[in-house]
Amino acid sequence: MKMPLENLQSVVRCPVCNKKYRMTKMLVLDEDDKRTTLHITCEGCGAASMVFISMGQFGVVSLGLLTDLKQNEARQVFQGEAISSDQVIEAHQFLKQYTGGVEEFI
Ligand SMILES: [Zn+2]
Repeated sequence: MKMPLENLQSVVRCPVCNKKYRMTKMLVLDEDDKRTTLHITCEGCGAASMVFISMGQFGVVSLGLLTDLKQNEARQVFQGEAISSDQVIEAHQFLKQYTGGVEEFI
C-alpha cells in the first residue's frame, strides 16, 4: 500500500502495551498496492511484532502479531524464495513413501 509511514503510524499500536509506535522503529518488509507488512519493535516494552496493514472496503485495517524474529531475520524471511508447487508435491511424495518414524526428523 503506497501510503506514507506517518499515516500508518496512527493505526499501529503495540499489541502488548498499546503504546503508539515511532516510525524510526518500523521496517517495511513488503508492500504492494493494497497491503503493507511492517516489522516493528516497541520502544516501551521491547516486544517485536509484525503488522499487516491493508486497505479494505471499510478503510484501513491492521493486524499485529507478536514475533521473536529480529528485523534482519524478518527481512530475510520476506526476501526468501516462495515455496513452489513442485516442492510441495516432492515433499508429499516423499512422506507418502516414507515408512520411518517422526523421531528421525528431529
Ligand atoms: Zn509495547
